[in-house]
Amino acid sequence: MKVNLLTHTPCPELVVARAARICYSSSFPIDISLEESRKLIKRVLKRGHESVLEHVSFTFLVEGISRAASHQLVRHRLASYSQQSQRYVFLGEPQYVVPPSIKADPRAKMLYEEGIKRATKEYNQLVELGIPKEDARYLFPQAVSTSLVFTANARELLHILRLRLCGRAQWEIRELASLMLEQVRAIAPSIFENAGPPCIDGPCPEGEKGCGKPWKTKK
Ligand SMILES: Cc1cc2nc3c(=O)[nH]c(=O)nc-3n(C[C@H](O)[C@H](O)[C@H](O)COP(=O)(O)OP(=O)(O)OC[C@H]3O[C@@H](n4cnc5c(N)ncnc54)[C@H](O)[C@@H]3O)c2cc1C
Repeated sequence: MKVNLLTHTPCPELVVARAARICYSSSFPIDISLEESRKLIKRVLKRGHESVLEHVSFTFLVEGISRAASHQLVRHRLASYSQQSQRYVFLGEPQYVVPPSIKADPRAKMLYEEGIKRATKEYNQLVELGIPKEDARYLFPQAVSTSLVFTANARELLHILRLRLCGRAQWEIRELASLMLEQVRAIAPSIFENAGPPCIDGPCPEGEKGCGKPWKTKK
């Protein structure tokens, strides 16, 4: 999997801090320093004044994730997506993701790869028969990898990280979320310093189904 932050709102912390300041000022506060911005952001986020985060967005290029993982990602409705199309792109030799549990078991890996080879062979045969790619692709397993560009504002991104960095989320989307966090935290530390699941600073809402390991101890 490759995750690259393609672009983001310039100076996101200054933008968020100015948005927060205007709520309490009679004129637009242009003269706020980065240091002041960071302090202000921490204060407003602590109070739950999260709408100020909606003024800055982050755009990622995600490559080499499975369709199983991309399906989970696109459930986040407040982000925007452009995904490689299986209707238009011919996938004669598709890349695919192998889950660690399968990689670790030679017999499982063999079965898995056989399944993918068979689906690929049959996909190619259907396309040769003149079946449209949009129909032949129905044969593909969810393991087939995909690429997409997605954009989310900082509020939605924090929400995604809260859900997808949880130990109960699936390993692949957790890996994706972790790579995203690394990059946005470097750009806007005051916004993302406490990003992560609820157990980062409070009780686990999963109850008995929780993983039993608070997130900070896992890093
Ligand atoms: C561990 C885990 C297991 C899951 N298991 C399943 C499963 O078995 N089956 C399944 O179908 N899904 C499952 N999901 C997906 C989950 O139900 C959500 O669809 C997904 O996490 C997107 O989250 P969201 O709806 O909060 O966020 P987003 O779509 O990112 O929305 C952000 C927030 O905006 C608000 N919002 C957005 N749209 C609406 C709306 N229409 N009405 C009101 N408020 C809105 C909500 O407050 C929402 O939290 C799972 C998710 C996780 C993390």
